[in-house]
Amino acid sequence: MYDVAIIGGGPAGISAALTALHRNKSCVIISSAPEDSMLFKAELIDNYPGLPAITGADMLRSFIAHAKASGAEFLDGRATSVMPYGTSFGVAVGNDFVEAKALVLGIGASRAKGFPGEKEFIGYGVSYCATCDGMLYRNKKVAVVALSSDAEEEAEFLRSIGCEVEYFDSKRAKKFEITGESRVEHIVADGVSYPVSAVFIFRPSIAPDTLIPDLGLDGSKIVVDADMATNIPGVFAAGDCIGAPYQISKACGDGNVAGISASRYVEALAKPAEV
Ligand SMILES: Cc1cc2nc3c(=O)[nH]c(=O)nc-3n(C[C@H](O)[C@H](O)[C@H](O)COP(=O)(O)OP(=O)(O)OC[C@H]3O[C@@H](n4cnc5c(N)ncnc54)[C@H](O)[C@@H]3O)c2cc1C
Repeated sequence: MYDVAIIGGGPAGISAALTALHRNKSCVIISSAPEDSMLFKAELIDNYPGLPAITGADMLRSFIAHAKASGAEFLDGRATSVMPYGTSFGVAVGNDFVEAKALVLGIGASRAKGFPGEKEFIGYGVSYCATCDGMLYRNKKVAVVALSSDAEEEAEFLRSIGCEVEYFDSKRAKKFEITGESRVEHIVADGVSYPVSAVFIFRPSIAPDTLIPDLGLDGSKIVVDADMATNIPGVFAAGDCIGAPYQISKACGDGNVAGISASRYVEALAKPAEV
């Protein structure tokens, strides 16, 4: 079991990891591809102290190299759900499973609003993981909604196990609705209805309250206090996911505070309860 699991490998998550590692905590950074970080998309950064006129991609590469050199482990993939276990948390990442005493969410600004019908049918035909759920739909027709860089690979996996894939990238359709009686029966894409048994949705991120039900939100922002603590004990959040300003320095600062708070939380767990 790790001391701290960090979901999101952008500036906030990496700063949280470095901070916790410097406090002698074991850390894993669970993250989608670096290309999915906002930072990777920035052509030129000129407001980060000490690193003038650098591309976002180069800055992110050096952040990742720094975290690896400091002992952070990386698990590539999308975290799809978090399960609280009393004094620890389980995080599902595709077919992998990570357990940690504390969590830091550095998942970036939530652009994952969710389609009409999506939330209602999670577990009833809506899935975010081809390798976890694909076999249930072998020899059936499924839809793939491709909004992240790994979607084609996931669709290929579904085809390889015998699913008939109706593939929607952003060129093919922009608006989606998922419909059915008690489980998924159709996807409606730009007004056209397609009968399918399941809808696999691949986004760089998952809506925060889909990832952790009961997480306190203000709109799409995760609500935190000055210690970056959320409403769930042991869960901290940092960076763009807690709101503006959407800037690298602020994300790193938030990550630093979240890393300190998560480390203190882990230390407090180890102390015997006072009577
Ligand atoms: C084009 C552009 C230019 C910019 N220019 C500047 C600039 O010049 N200066 C500046 O200060 N800021 C700039 N920014 C903003 C800056 O990039 C962000 O504020 C910063 O990257 C936020 O860091 P973050 O760690 O909070 O989120 P992100 O960098 O978005 O990282 C979040 C990471 O978490 C991953 N993730 C999310 N959900 C999951 C999940 N469920 N499982 C696994 N991984 C997950 C995402 O894929 C992503 O890799 C720019 C942004 C853009 C888009």
